[in-house]
Amino acid sequence: MRKPIIVGNWKMNKTIAETKAFVEAVDPAVTDKADWGIATPYLALATAKENAKNLIVAAENLHFKDSGAYTGEVSAAMLKEIGIEWTIIGHSERRQYFGETDETVNAKMLQAFNNDITPIVCVGETLEEYEKGITKDVVKTQTVAAFKDVCPKCAAKAVIAYEPVWAIGTGKTATNEIAQDVCAYIRSVMADLYGQEVADQVRIQYGGSVKPEGLKALLEQPDIDGALVGGASLVEDSYKAMIAALD
Ligand code: PEP
Repeated sequence: MRKPIIVGNWKMNKTIAETKAFVEAVDPAVTDKADWGIATPYLALATAKENAKNLIVAAENLHFKDSGAYTGEVSAAMLKEIGIEWTIIGHSERRQYFGETDETVNAKMLQAFNNDITPIVCVGETLEEYEKGITKDVVKTQTVAAFKDVCPKCAAKAVIAYEPVWAIGTGKTATNEIAQDVCAYIRSVMADLYGQEVADQVRIQYGGSVKPEGLKALLEQPDIDGALVGGASLVEDSYKAMIAALD
């Protein structure tokens, strides 16, 4: 039985003070119906972590090297020092704007696992790829690349977020049927890589314009174990409405 996991991806939003206010308001509302989390910009992570008793606090990225001449980057050790045990890896915005590739995603996956940080690794097709009908080829390539050299024990702990790029921040959501079909396919790719037992443990989220009112039906899909949520995770009332939707 996979416990649902819902994580807000805040992207480049909220100051430290805004983060503290959000965590103070939302953290007490968290229930055990799911694992609930927020991924915040680096600057706010320590404050979020200090104030969160129930929320998972995740980074939005990490660097794949231990240390060195990588101006502007943040290492796994730096995250661990402030208690961060989760990170998003390979979000489409990083792939699109910051040169993230399947190879760097894989290097970051290995670096995360080597440092006991659990990755939420994002895969998903662009609108052009969707229209060409190659969604499954794209997510297979991204998933296989992301998990290269990742051991089965680590793979079982990973969270995979299926995020069609055309649905992120656009207000367009994949139908639950499309999302289920692709998430089931990703699970079959994991079964080919690691066997069914590992594939059955991996939690697969859908992400792309998820709103509180759609969350429950989304999670009723057999292969959808949670959501990665951008816009709707930024407002306290909307985050609380997601929590209430699963109660
Ligand atoms: C995201 O940032 O991963 C995301 C899914 O954003 P939104 O919910 O705003 O589409």
